[in-house]
Amino acid sequence: MQFLKSLPTLLIFLFATTAFTDEPLANRRVVLITLDGLRGEEVFGGADERLISRDNGVEDVSGTMSRYCRIDTTDKRQTLMPFLWQICTSENGWIAGDIEKESVVAVTNGLYFSYPGYNEILSGFPDPAVNSNAKKLNENVTVLEWLNKHPEFKNSVAAYGSWDVFPYIINHKRSGIEVNAGWMPLKVGNPERIEALNYIAKNIFHEWDGVRYDSITTSGALEEMKTNKPRVLFVALGETDDWAHKGRYDRYLLAANQNDGFIRDLYEMAQSIPEYKDNTLFIVTSDHGRGDGREGWKNHSVLLPGSERIWIAAFGPGLSVSGVDEGGKFEQAQVAATVAKYLGLDFSQHNSQVRPPLPILK
Ligand SMILES: [Zn+2]
Repeated sequence: MQFLKSLPTLLIFLFATTAFTDEPLANRRVVLITLDGLRGEEVFGGADERLISRDNGVEDVSGTMSRYCRIDTTDKRQTLMPFLWQICTSENGWIAGDIEKESVVAVTNGLYFSYPGYNEILSGFPDPAVNSNAKKLNENVTVLEWLNKHPEFKNSVAAYGSWDVFPYIINHKRSGIEVNAGWMPLKVGNPERIEALNYIAKNIFHEWDGVRYDSITTSGALEEMKTNKPRVLFVALGETDDWAHKGRYDRYLLAANQNDGFIRDLYEMAQSIPEYKDNTLFIVTSDHGRGDGREGWKNHSVLLPGSERIWIAAFGPGLSVSGVDEGGKFEQAQVAATVAKYLGLDFSQHNSQVRPPLPILK
C-alpha cells in the first residue's frame, strides 16, 4: 500500500528525470574537431620511443623521453593526451580505432591525404574526383553546407581551420559559411582580444605560409563560440601533420599534446555557456593516418601502410556507447551523417551515397 501511495510521486520523478536527461533535439549542438594526420599509434599508444632520436628531428632526446615516455601504455597515452583519455573513458565518452583491440576506422577514399579525407568526413562519402590538395572549390555539398541551408541552422554554422584550403573544401562561395582559415585575420569576438590575436598572428614567425598555428585557430573558434554560439562548429587543427612532414617527432608530439589542451578548452568553454552546456556532442577525428617505422611516420600515401587507418572519439550526452571500442568496424565517411543525426536530421536524404551514421547515438 505504501508503495502504491508513492507511485504517482515516483512516476512524476521518473518523468522529470527523463525530461531532464533527454534534452530536446532543438537545443542540440555539435563541435567537430579534426587533428590533421595524427596517427592512432600515438593516440592509443602514446609517444613511440623508437622515434625519439636525433635522426627523427628530436632536439632534446632525454627531455622528450622524460616528458612523454612511461613504462605503462595507458600512462603513456594519458601523458600525451590527458583530456581525451579522461573524457573517452568516462561514461559520456567513446573512442574507436585501436588496432590492438581490433577496432578499425577506415579511410575509404583510397588516397590517404588531406583534401580527400576532409571531403570524406564532411560530405559523407569518398569521391574519386577529389584527388588533389589544390585550392579547388568542392563540388560536393558538405554536411556543414547542408545544415546551413536548413532554416533551423541558417547562419549558425561556423568553421575555423589552420590550413588555408578549408574555404575551398567547404566551398565558401556556395555554402554561405564564413570559413576562417590559414593566416586570415580573425573577425568575430571581443574586439580588443581579436585585435591582439591578429597582431600576434601577423607579426609572429610563420613556419608555413599555408598553415596557421593551431593556438590561433582555436582562439578564433573560442571567440566564435562565446559571441555567436553557432549550433555547429568545425575546428580543423593542422600542426601535427606539418611537423611530421618536417621530420620533427618532438614537435609532432608537442602539437598532439597542445591539441589535447585545445580540445579541453573548447569543451570547457562549451560547458560554461548555457546554450552548449550538457547538450553538445563533440566528435574528434583525423583526415588520414601515417606510415610506420623510422621514415614512414613522416608521410602518408597509398604506398605507406597505416595511412588508411584513423580513429574517432566522441563525447557528450546522448551516446549509446562508452569507453574504448573493441572489434568495431567503422568508416571515416560516417562522421557527416552522425553530425546530422545528433541534430535530428537525416543527411542521406541529400545524397544516397552518404554513409550511415556511426552506431553510437541513442
Ligand atoms: Zn592531412
